[in-house]
Amino acid sequence: MVTILNAQPAKQIEVSVNAERPSIAGLDRSGLAEALAAIGVPEKSRRMRVAQLWGWLYVRGVRSFDEMSDVSKDLRARLADTYTLDRPEIVSEQVSVDGTRKWLMRLPRRGRERTAPEVETVYIPEADRGTLCISSQVGCTLNCSFCHTGTQPLVRNLEVEEIVGQILLARDRIGDWPGANAPEDGRLLPETDRKITNIVLMGMGEPLYNFDNVRRAMAVAADGDGLSVSKRRITLSTSGVVPEIARWGAESSTMLAISLHATRNDLRDELVPINKRYPIAELMNACRSYPGLSNARRITFEYVMLKDVNDSLDDARTLVRLLSGIPAKINLIPFNPWPGSRYLCSDWGQIERFAELVNRAGYASPVRTPRGRDILAACGQLKSESTRLRASEHISPLVSKTPETAP
Ligand code: SAH
Ligand code: SF4
Repeated sequence: MVTILNAQPAKQIEVSVNAERPSIAGLDRSGLAEALAAIGVPEKSRRMRVAQLWGWLYVRGVRSFDEMSDVSKDLRARLADTYTLDRPEIVSEQVSVDGTRKWLMRLPRRGRERTAPEVETVYIPEADRGTLCISSQVGCTLNCSFCHTGTQPLVRNLEVEEIVGQILLARDRIGDWPGANAPEDGRLLPETDRKITNIVLMGMGEPLYNFDNVRRAMAVAADGDGLSVSKRRITLSTSGVVPEIARWGAESSTMLAISLHATRNDLRDELVPINKRYPIAELMNACRSYPGLSNARRITFEYVMLKDVNDSLDDARTLVRLLSGIPAKINLIPFNPWPGSRYLCSDWGQIERFAELVNRAGYASPVRTPRGRDILAACGQLKSESTRLRASEHISPLVSKTPETAP
């Protein structure tokens, strides 16, 4: 069970989300151009207007059109009549004793959704970096047996602006915009002064099942004239959607993490059921040909440590053999329990013996220290409150939870 430490209680924060006026915060360049076209901005000036908005939205992080001093008053008024710069609504914000923060965010309803979907985003500060763990879907269509998100019955893909919106909201809340603490200085924040330096797509959802929106959102995150997070500091984690791995590498060239968790097909079929469709050998081939792979750009293999399930020294030896020839790092993740989970975390001594064997074989194998356990913010513990709703309360465009219906 989860130990409840001295977490601050979840804060309720009032953020108004306007149903009639959609938010344009989080859109990419083509989305902004469309939004401008819809309010009559002529095509010839759209590019220039998009560039202006871009700086205000993604360098300064402004929350109101009034602040956009180089945009004409008339255009500011037209923008404000039709749109907002709202972030996702915060349902709760929790701060762990170790500084980890978790936000439960409510997204605007789309299509015929009767309830507003909710997702979680986690910020993990460390000595040399600050990592934002973002979600790509509401829930997940896959059913990994050790993952809380996988028990969420209903799923939809996040839109581009909903993925980018998580970054904007986190920056707002931790004061990570230029001059956030001293608004008058207006200075741009050098990369080295930022709190959020890294992004991992390790929140809720399988990012390769929402390929296009995740790709466009990461292009916004990496854009050098805006949020400017280097692609080498963005990591996409996948359970192993083999056909999309090469395409992701070619089109996005971020770092890659693979949720491996088992070295034999019979066990991986059980832990990560997508393995039945794309078994280990195919997954390894996709990894070997991931574009840009080198010793400086290694694939991270995530391996959750489940007591007496996948944590024997024989498993460690098989793991080493399996990865031979692939520039790899191994990330051993102590299993994070959640209410109702059927596994136990391996004993600490066993994790150490496993790590030592893998290390001796030449692989860096840091054990990921569980962060934010007291607020259920650790890997695989994310699951929004909306799951309490019965399936019958939702209607299309939500998709039902079978891998076959995955988008
Ligand atoms: N769907 C993607 C990304 C989100 S999960 C994927 O599966 O890769 C991010 C990581 O957390 C994955 O490696 C996942 O296997 C791991 N994880 C899920 N549940 C966990 C749990 N209860 N304890 C530890 N790690 C978990
Ligand atoms: Fe989905 Fe990843 Fe959880 Fe598996 S581990 S259910 S792919 S979020």
